[in-house]
Formats: sequence, C-alpha cells, structure tokens
Amino acid sequence: MERIYAPWRIKYLEKADEKSKKCIFCYPDKRMLILKDKKFIIILNKYPYTNGHIMVAPNLHKVMLEELDKESLLGLMEGVQLGIKILKKAYRPSGFNIGINYGRVSGAGIEDHLHIHIVPRWSGDTNFMPVVGKTKIVSESFESVKRKLKKSLKEVFDGKI
Ligand SMILES: [Zn+2]
Repeated sequence: MERIYAPWRIKYLEKADEKSKKCIFCYPDKRMLILKDKKFIIILNKYPYTNGHIMVAPNLHKVMLEELDKESLLGLMEGVQLGIKILKKAYRPSGFNIGINYGRVSGAGIEDHLHIHIVPRWSGDTNFMPVVGKTKIVSESFESVKRKLKKSLKEVFDGKI
C-alpha cells in the first residue's frame, strides 16, 4: 500500500482536536474502532507502545472504577478478555501488560473516561524503552492492525477460537 505523508497537516489536526474535545470512547474515531459492544468498546491506541496496543472502556462515561456497578464491571472484563483473545490470535504475543492509569498523576492521557490498556509484549520487544527513553517501537500502520484484529474478532464470534 502506498502512503502519502503530509506533515504540515499536523497543525491543522491538532487544532481540530482542540476544538472537538469529545470523549474518544463515547465518540470513537471510526479508523480506530475495533468493536462497540452493548457493554464495552475496544479501540486502537493512537499512541501505541507496541503493535496491537488497544484500549477497552465501559460504555458508561465514568471516571472511577468504584463508580461502576457489577454489571458494568463484568462487561468491562468481558471486553478485556475478548481483547486478549483477538490479540493472541492476531499477534501471538508472549505476554501482555494490562492496566489502568488512574488519574493524571499516574499518566492517564484521557482522564474522564475509565479505560484499560492491553499492550501485547514479546520477549525483548522494547526493553523498557517507553519508560526510560520515551522511545516507542511501532512498525505497523493502524490500518494493518485494525484489519488483523477485525479478522480475529470474526473468528472469535464464529467460534473458531
Ligand atoms: Zn466517554
């Protein structure tokens, strides 16, 4: 696939982002959306740590984990479970980092809608570079990641996994 780079667009995009500060989980970007279920949503992370870095959020626009009722909590964990399944199928990672950045002080980029990060890991993949050097190693386009995860998702729903 050919790609056209237009670095000058970044200023325009940043401005557009400022104007529409809509919640990315309540109003997901279709290019990043993997699945919108009744109880949860799975989207790609725009600033991934590794290929396949996804986020799972409850459909309720809530900040705190303790605000969720049991049904929403269960729904959220079902989303995490599904996320793991599709990533395993698509990427065969050796492990995952799964976690929540709780509040700005912890590094949460989107503070007002609770979400769980699922970052696939392979032995020797980034060697803590994101933490230490702020360098991220991502070698795959969003289109490609999305295509793979959608394919895995279909296989999960078809009962093949
Ligand atoms: Zn929201």
